[in-house]
Amino acid sequence: MRYPSLLMVCGALTFMLAGCTTNEQVEPKEPTTQSSTIDEPETEPNETNVNQEDVGDVESPTEEEPTEDAPIAEQPTGPAEEEPATAAQPIEVNGMANLDLDELILVNKQIALPSDYQPSDLVEAKIDFVDSTVGERRMLRKEAARAIEALMKGAKADGIDLKGTSAFRSYDYQVNLFNAYVERDGKEQAMKYSAPPGHSEHQTGLAIDVSSASVNYQLTQNLGEMVEGKWLADHAHEYGFIIRYQKAFENETEYMYEPWHLRYIGIEHAKRVHELNQPYDRYIAEFMK
Ligand SMILES: [Zn+2]
Repeated sequence: MRYPSLLMVCGALTFMLAGCTTNEQVEPKEPTTQSSTIDEPETEPNETNVNQEDVGDVESPTEEEPTEDAPIAEQPTGPAEEEPATAAQPIEVNGMANLDLDELILVNKQIALPSDYQPSDLVEAKIDFVDSTVGERRMLRKEAARAIEALMKGAKADGIDLKGTSAFRSYDYQVNLFNAYVERDGKEQAMKYSAPPGHSEHQTGLAIDVSSASVNYQLTQNLGEMVEGKWLADHAHEYGFIIRYQKAFENETEYMYEPWHLRYIGIEHAKRVHELNQPYDRYIAEFMK
C-alpha cells in the first residue's frame, strides 16, 4: 500500500509544481506597456474599450445645476476675495496658447504651444518617481514642483502611496512619443490618449502623471477606482492641482479619462474648478471673459 500512496504524493506534487510554473509564466505578461520604439513605461493607452463605454456616459452629467448655482449663492457674502484676481485676457493669441496666462495657460487639442516654448523656471520635483523616469521628465515649473511635493507629503500622511511617472516633456520629446504611438495604433487612436506635439500640457511644466503600486504604476483608468485615485480626486485641488481629463467631460476635452494626469493651476483656481465641476477649458474661457 505504501508504494501507490507514494506515487500519489509524487503525482500531487508534480501537479502543484506545474500549477506554480504556469502562474509564474502568466505574471510577466501583466504590464500593459507594449514595447514601442520609445522606452516609455508611461504609455497612456490600452483603455480603449473603457473609452468607448465612457463616451456614452458623457451626456448625463453635463448639466450640473447644483454646482452652477454655487458661485451665485456665494456672491452676496464675500465675492471680492473669492474671485481670484487676474485681469481678463485672451486664452489664445493667433491660434496659439497665450503664454501670459502663466500657470493658467490653456493648452488643448485646438490650442498649441510654440514649438520652441520651454519654461524658464523648471526644477526637479523632490518626490518619488518610478525608476524609469529620469532627467527633465522629473522637472516641473518651480511653483508646481513645490505643490506636488506638498501633495505627496499630504498623501503619505493619509497612508496613500503615489509616485510620479512623468512630468515635463519637451516639444522634441513629444514629437518622438506621438510618432511612436501613431505607428503603433494609428493616428485616430493615438489622438485619443496622446497629444500631438505642441498640444501636450506636459510641455507647460505644469502637468505631471502619477500612479500607484496598486496598479503597478501603470497609467490606467483603473487608478480611478483605487483608494489612491479617489484620494487624488478628493484632495488634489487642495494643493493647486486638478484632474484635467475627467470621465464626464471626454467629449468636451477630447481626451479619455485620465485619473493620473494632474495639472497645476494654483490653489484658488483649483478649488473653484473642483467646486464647479467643470472641464478646465470651459472654466478658464469663462474666467478670462
Ligand atoms: Zn499626462
